[in-house]
Amino acid sequence: MLQAQATLVLILLGPPGAGKGTQAGILAKTLQIPHISTGDLLRLNVKGETSLGKEAQGYMNGGKLVPDDLILDMLFDRVGAPDCEKGYILDGFPRTLAQAEAYHKRLGNDVKLAALNLELSDDVIVERLEKRFVCSGCSAPYHLITSPPQKEGSCDRCNSPLVKRTDDDEKVVRKRLAVYHSQTAPLITYYSKGQSFKGVSCNRPINDILEEILDYLQEVAR
Ligand code: AMP
Repeated sequence: MLQAQATLVLILLGPPGAGKGTQAGILAKTLQIPHISTGDLLRLNVKGETSLGKEAQGYMNGGKLVPDDLILDMLFDRVGAPDCEKGYILDGFPRTLAQAEAYHKRLGNDVKLAALNLELSDDVIVERLEKRFVCSGCSAPYHLITSPPQKEGSCDRCNSPLVKRTDDDEKVVRKRLAVYHSQTAPLITYYSKGQSFKGVSCNRPINDILEEILDYLQEVAR
């Protein structure tokens, strides 16, 4: 298994619905480092009715990005926690060039960075998100056809009810995809200039994708 000496930061890029959350969840268990999803952190704030949650909610419901300054404060707070010392997996961050630049300025060169771009076409995404459910307790993602829960309507991990995300409605998904193409996709060029970048095609079974990612991480760790 992967033996990283320096802090490993694994960045999962890719459009909404490409499978970042699913892969990050499995990788976190396999590599024993935390899965940090800025979307999940924001949803927790919305649920807890914090001031950040109240500010973020309108952007999220409209499929827009939450302002960079709010995201950066939240993210820096999370990655500064002791459980991130060995490394962590970023899912849904960075989403803009400004976020990436601020993050790397703060991080310095003291980490082993690997960026993966999970690739999937818009049409497949729209179809996929129609059938996506998430756990209301632990945020684990499910898909009615490709990764259904063992017991209908409840989470395999924590037994909480599965719910549909409000922003998985087709109109909002189309808006999120437009935002992705204009504001987040430029990060592919940004990271592909670095040493450890790989594109991964995601229109295939979860385990095939996972295997390709783990093989790649072995290479990066060498
Ligand atoms: P996700 O769960 O990653 O699909 O994110 C859901 C929503 O949360 C997005 O549509 C944005 O409104 C917001 N969000 C999550 N991560 C970020 C981020 N890094 N920057 C700005 N907004 C974000």
